[in-house]
Amino acid sequence: MSRNAPAIDAQRLSLILNDLRLPAIKLVWSDFTTRADKEGWPGARLLAALAEHEIAERDRRRIERHLGEARLPPGKTLDSFAFDAVPMISRAQVTALCSGDGWLEKGANLILFGPPGGGKTHLAAAIGLALIENGWRVLFTRTSDLVQKLQVARRELALEAAIAKLDKYHLLVLDDLAYVTKDQAETSVLFELISARYERRSTLITANQPFGEWNRVFPDPAMTLAAVDRLVHHATIFEMNVESYRRRSAIQRQSRAGRPPTFATIKSTQEMSRSDNQTCE
Ligand code: ADP
Ligand code: MG
Repeated sequence: MSRNAPAIDAQRLSLILNDLRLPAIKLVWSDFTTRADKEGWPGARLLAALAEHEIAERDRRRIERHLGEARLPPGKTLDSFAFDAVPMISRAQVTALCSGDGWLEKGANLILFGPPGGGKTHLAAAIGLALIENGWRVLFTRTSDLVQKLQVARRELALEAAIAKLDKYHLLVLDDLAYVTKDQAETSVLFELISARYERRSTLITANQPFGEWNRVFPDPAMTLAAVDRLVHHATIFEMNVESYRRRSAIQRQSRAGRPPTFATIKSTQEMSRSDNQTCE
């Protein structure tokens, strides 16, 4: 500190920084000012450095909060997603979607179709994570879990409020849409959710069955038509028609070990893909 500088009441400064809600500056001002004095920074540089630090910390804390609320399945990132396993999807297109620009502002949707094990949940979670890192808010949920919550809300006459609460999420990921049980009460809350978000807020849906089989999701054909119509009006659709990744990896591991896949591997991977189907139904 320069010899002629007036003394600073550090305690009072801490209180003021608290009142001004500048917690990051409160933590570092002493280090920053010591360094500025030592290196002879001009006053404006010190002020700018402190302000930049506060804003960067604020962004970091916000993203951390958004990651906490998103309930993404852990470990599903774009880095760990093998794009060569789904040749119909280009990394460039996914990267562009991950900026969020051009679709989240207008409430456009993303729909991932494909058989079990093809990477729909992984890709949906990875896109969600990348969007959060780019400043958007996302909620990841199994469709059946959310439908159950919305049904409870409806019984308590609070369905509208529950759906409105989801508005804070720029993207709502509904994983496994097609596994919702065939029940009129359940599907109508889902329909109300889809209608409420239409052209306002984006939804990412993963589903095993193509639209043609969505009559099993919405038992009323008019409701199916109306739901599909709203979902696809502004939507990007990925058809991930690939074999189960787990099954393929297991077979590859066997052949890399120098052995042709044994009957036991083929049988166990078949069982794996059968159990994929079962957990989904
Ligand atoms: P789906 O939701 O289509 O049934 P998942 O996303 O659950 O499939 O994928 C099954 C498993 O295989 C998960 O552990 C997932 O991380 C992995 N997986 C699937 N596709 C890929 C891929 N292209 N690259 C890396 N891992 C993948
Ligand atoms: Mg899945």
